[in-house]
Amino acid sequence: MTFVGMIFSRYTFTMSKVRVRMAPSPTGYLHIGTARTALFNWLFAKKNKGEFILRIEDTDLERSDKIYEQDIVEGFKWLGLDWKGEIFYQSKRLDIYEEYIEKLLKSGRAFRCYHSQEELEKERGQQMVDKEAPRHICKHKLSVSASEQNGRAGIIRLAVDENSERLLTFDDQIRGRIDWEEKLLGDFSIAKDPRTPLYNLAVVVDDIDMQISHVIRGEDHISNTPKQILIYEAIAQAGKTPLKIPKFAHLPLILGSDKSKLSKRNGTTSVSEYKKDYLPGALINFMGFLGYTYSKEILSKEEMADEFELEKIHKSGAIFDIKKLNWINSQYIHALSTDKFKKMIAAKDVPEKALPMITERLEKLTDVADFDYFWKSPDYAKELLRWKKSDLETSLKTLAEVKKIIQDFDFNKDKNEFRKALDEFSKRVGDPSSPSGQDRGLVYWPLRAALTGKEKSPDPVDIVYALGKEKALERVSKAIER
Ligand code: GLU
Repeated sequence: MTFVGMIFSRYTFTMSKVRVRMAPSPTGYLHIGTARTALFNWLFAKKNKGEFILRIEDTDLERSDKIYEQDIVEGFKWLGLDWKGEIFYQSKRLDIYEEYIEKLLKSGRAFRCYHSQEELEKERGQQMVDKEAPRHICKHKLSVSASEQNGRAGIIRLAVDENSERLLTFDDQIRGRIDWEEKLLGDFSIAKDPRTPLYNLAVVVDDIDMQISHVIRGEDHISNTPKQILIYEAIAQAGKTPLKIPKFAHLPLILGSDKSKLSKRNGTTSVSEYKKDYLPGALINFMGFLGYTYSKEILSKEEMADEFELEKIHKSGAIFDIKKLNWINSQYIHALSTDKFKKMIAAKDVPEKALPMITERLEKLTDVADFDYFWKSPDYAKELLRWKKSDLETSLKTLAEVKKIIQDFDFNKDKNEFRKALDEFSKRVGDPSSPSGQDRGLVYWPLRAALTGKEKSPDPVDIVYALGKEKALERVSKAIER
């Protein structure tokens, strides 16, 4: 049975207890940290049979761009982080913010400040000298004269008691109790004007209006939380809504390999750059571990959700280890069905038998180019055919014998029979000085080179079987002709 949403919301959300949100600002491409935050919100919603919503925080018109918004939305879709219902846009909610701001102004909890930038800087400079927290203590909250207004529109600030002895406290679901001295906040700004809210106000209005139960976000927002708590209180005091503050959980930072904050300098930060190399499930699996430990290493987001608890999120920074991502990705590629894999690499003529040989070895999808000899004739320098313990002439002579073996061999027989034939032959071309009296390299090296044009590859016997007799012969002949 579902109930209709509470009266003070303009939406009819179902009355599930847990509702979380992802609230990206479209001021850059989807960042891996934002995707990780989205995943943790998604997991928490899933675990608690709650709802996960998407809100685009695009009130900063100068820095917001549709291109970034598209990239973020596409990125969430690619990762399978599905949200409930429509996407909310802050830019379409200006009437709502205005309503709240007017109410705050009327109640006196917010006021207009007419100080100039210069005056604010002077105040800050003095605070630096006095070794005080930088903040604005505004006397315009009490009264303001026409000359002080000086024809300016003024920005809107929350009135904060500069003499307060109160500690603003919240119980962070990950980090435990966090205290903040109210008086250190100063009369912080909440809007440029009633239709231009700033981040802290817009976020609180939306989280109230959308009945968000838990705010799960990066730890860089910890210092915003006390300000937001004051806004919740002010809105309640202004008689706008009952006081109901969500629970907060601040996720640990993601660190690059050098243990400083992940940035373009020490890692790839934008999700779209991972798309060509990584499977979405693998990236999700990897991101799940950025600040959490699950009972097994390879698991889907649904399996993660079963285990997920906010309290078990790590407190310390999570290191972005690309080697781990590559390993996880290799597991996902290996598990792909051959059909899916073929579609993914878009190479038409990959022999069926070659597919497992490739998927077993790939860490990144674009590395498939290293295996292109399965669908096109290799190109290489003749010198590659020379076995290192011999000369080119002997290597080619041996290859000519190998060609005969291939010609005469019945490939309906098991591949071990073919290997035996090559091994037998290698005894005859053997190097008497080697302990086994044979030189398998002289047989297998030129064969591998002829088939693949590479120094390293899967077992040449397997490659002959994957390519088939005809193609294998064609490549060996070409090598001899060179
Ligand atoms: N728009 C904010 C950001 O992208 C969201 C912060 C929040 O979750 O409250 O960082």
